[in-house]
Amino acid sequence: MNSFPTPAALPSSDRAFDAARSIIPGGVDSPVRAYGSVGGTPRFITSASGPYVTDADGETYVDLVASWGPALLGHAHPAVVAAVRAAAGAGLSFGAPTTAETELAEAVASRVGAAERVRFVSSGTEATMTAVRLARGVTGRPLLVKIAGHYHGHSDSLLVDAGSGVATLGIPGTPGVPESVAAHTVVVPYNDEAAMRSVFDAHGEQVAAIIVEGAAANMGVVAPAAGYNRALRELTAAHGALLIQDEVLTGFRVGPAGWWGLEGEAEGWSPDLFAFGKVLGGGMPLAAVAGRAEVMDQLAPSGPVYQAGTLSGNPLATAAGLATLRLADASVYEAVNSASTLVADAADAALTEAGVAHAVSRAGNLFSVFFGEGPATAGVPDFAAAKASETWRYPAFFHSMAASGVLLPPSAYEAWFLTAAHDSAALDRVLSALPAAARAAAGAERPEA
Ligand SMILES: *Cc1c(COP(=O)(O)O)cnc(C)c1O
Repeated sequence: MNSFPTPAALPSSDRAFDAARSIIPGGVDSPVRAYGSVGGTPRFITSASGPYVTDADGETYVDLVASWGPALLGHAHPAVVAAVRAAAGAGLSFGAPTTAETELAEAVASRVGAAERVRFVSSGTEATMTAVRLARGVTGRPLLVKIAGHYHGHSDSLLVDAGSGVATLGIPGTPGVPESVAAHTVVVPYNDEAAMRSVFDAHGEQVAAIIVEGAAANMGVVAPAAGYNRALRELTAAHGALLIQDEVLTGFRVGPAGWWGLEGEAEGWSPDLFAFGKVLGGGMPLAAVAGRAEVMDQLAPSGPVYQAGTLSGNPLATAAGLATLRLADASVYEAVNSASTLVADAADAALTEAGVAHAVSRAGNLFSVFFGEGPATAGVPDFAAAKASETWRYPAFFHSMAASGVLLPPSAYEAWFLTAAHDSAALDRVLSALPAAARAAAGAERPEA
């Protein structure tokens, strides 16, 4: 049994959580929101503005969750809210094409040149699921290669996780995924080119695609090793397979053209397909699959690979996405980058000062903290190393930050999200909360095995 620090008294959230749990499984609509890995009651949020969220008990926190990434501009940016209100006044959903969808697709393509065609869907899960189906449809091959610890949403073939070993034919990562589906997913360790090559040596003719996060940010933040993503590009091209770069989290967040803009574009290569989401919808349900025209045009109705959605390209979501991308100029990325560097450096310094072995792991303006000697000495290159870190220190760290008015993601495996709205008042609160949280992490007790 984990010993959690005593979380704050949250009477209104407690009541809300009890009511929610009696009707919604676990009281939440997405599991990590339930605070399972940090303990205590999740704060029920009543409103959010700029860098702040306010909970049902009337407490206001500096928010480093940013809705898990979408709020690049901060919460409820007035121009985004105005765009959504205007769209709502003109009708909520038509089930017919709108010119705003074309404008948003053009905005995506103008930032990410390799996104020659764009198809909008409503969630990142749908985007990666569609990309995988398209890759299988275009190549006529069954196998998908994914990387241990990378997250691509919750569709069947993408929830498969690794067994141990170099390259394991997948086992289902959750009840409900049939072995027959899992058998078509091969899982390899991250940042291990040799393991990837051996999969292609053994099964190369059968592989439809590799799917990879631009930079891993769902097992904590773990950057790709220099040349790793490019090697995946070369390997897939040599074997007639596609490369799907999942930028649902990194897209339009780590820079105007996402991770591709920091790496592939600079190096002169591109994946065949991208998945986008999160920032793309500016806080509304919107995501996209995008990529090479020749591949994308195989989607129905221009091609035979079926995909559809009643609410795809929803006018409110499209308006929020367009307003967000229009506002996300160089100054926004400079603000997010410098806020992120400031907080990451301060967390690093506070933990060092408190004597906690750790690594602050960074990829562009994304970062997370791994506790333990392993990360401190060798860094964290892959999921095995991430899982071996001292995640049991995180609940104490998390609840200390919350007690000082800062909400971190309620899991050690998530990135800390800064926004362009984190001004000096908000950042000062984060910096002044860190030393006590670092001491709480130092004092955390290792749970009994
Ligand atoms: C969040 C995320 C997804 C899933 O997106 P949803 O909108 O939650 O379905 C897929 N891939 C990555 C890299 C993500 O971070």
